[in-house]
Amino acid sequence: MTPPSDHAGAVLTIDLDAIASNYRQLDERLGKTACAAVVKADGYGLGIAPVARALAEAGCASFFVATIEEGIELRAILPEAEIAVLNGAPAEAVDEVARHGLIPVLNGPDQIEAWRAYIERAGASLAILHCDTGMARLGLTQSELEALCAAGAEGIPFRCVMSHLACADDPAHPLNGEQLALFQDARARLGRRFGPSPASLANSSGIFLGPAYHFDLARPGVALYGVNPTPGQPNPMAEAVQLQGKIIGLREIDRAMTVGYGATHRVTRGSRIATVAVGYADGFLRSLSNRAYGYIGTVRVKMVGRVSMDLTTFDVSALPPEDVRPGTMVTLIGRKHPIDALAAEAGTTGYEILTSLGRRYERRYVGD
Ligand SMILES: *Cc1c(COP(=O)(O)O)cnc(C)c1O
Repeated sequence: MTPPSDHAGAVLTIDLDAIASNYRQLDERLGKTACAAVVKADGYGLGIAPVARALAEAGCASFFVATIEEGIELRAILPEAEIAVLNGAPAEAVDEVARHGLIPVLNGPDQIEAWRAYIERAGASLAILHCDTGMARLGLTQSELEALCAAGAEGIPFRCVMSHLACADDPAHPLNGEQLALFQDARARLGRRFGPSPASLANSSGIFLGPAYHFDLARPGVALYGVNPTPGQPNPMAEAVQLQGKIIGLREIDRAMTVGYGATHRVTRGSRIATVAVGYADGFLRSLSNRAYGYIGTVRVKMVGRVSMDLTTFDVSALPPEDVRPGTMVTLIGRKHPIDALAAEAGTTGYEILTSLGRRYERRYVGD
């Protein structure tokens, strides 16, 4: 690789071709079901503008973001795309949502009422109706759904009816089937009352639960970015992220001593410790302390001691000194050590690793 600019302590490389090919792979797997892309939280930390453009070029026409701010940002990037806002719109924001051509996900009776009032003022405008089937987070409860069917929601054109799976990454979990049944029931009830509308249930892992979960529109996020949607099985997705940290300090240990804050790792005379310019302020989580691995070329090296704010330390004793110098890059995320491996070492998920990726990294977009 090109060496990083002198001041960069780490290089984050984002492969837009891999993201585009992941989109096409999911789209193909879905057959007739349309494939949207979830690009909330700045495209899962990878940069909403390049990511959304790459996805649009790969054929994606529908996007989901979490917040209205994200929707407005994406509207400026993709003037023609369909953009839905998962967190919905409170009454005071409906005009702004409509002005930017965003589709609100209506998550409760108050949001439904606010959108209905907007339509009465300004004319029909699409919305998505969210029914909760097992998250207890957002979306109509069973009784709110019954009340809606009794009272009527005429006048709101529904782009689709949606729900969200709680355990899709665990195909054996009984909640998957329960949520599917509740969703089908909600959809049937709404259909009888207001006429048929398309349906959307599957996130990334939901797509791999099989065609019964696909309906009309799928909403993958994390799989597009290379995280394994089928934990415990080989990853069907292409890795899209590489993170390399630069060694800025190197020492031969000349007496038995400990490494880093809290003195949590002991080294003997003759060990060699490399200090890398990546820390928890960059999203290299502190829970990786004494647990993470990196690669120098093809050699695996262990992170030792605590992760500090701006630095981490690796034991490089096993490598010949000529292979490890100030400026040598340590691969922290890459083909040999994917996001899922780092997430397991940190005791978290690929979602949190991605959305924690730091702002100090030199970001390079390749492909596209
Ligand atoms: C984040 C989110 C998704 C995407 O989930 P992934 O697991 O990243 O594929 C889909 N639907 C809803 C409602 C979400 O909040």
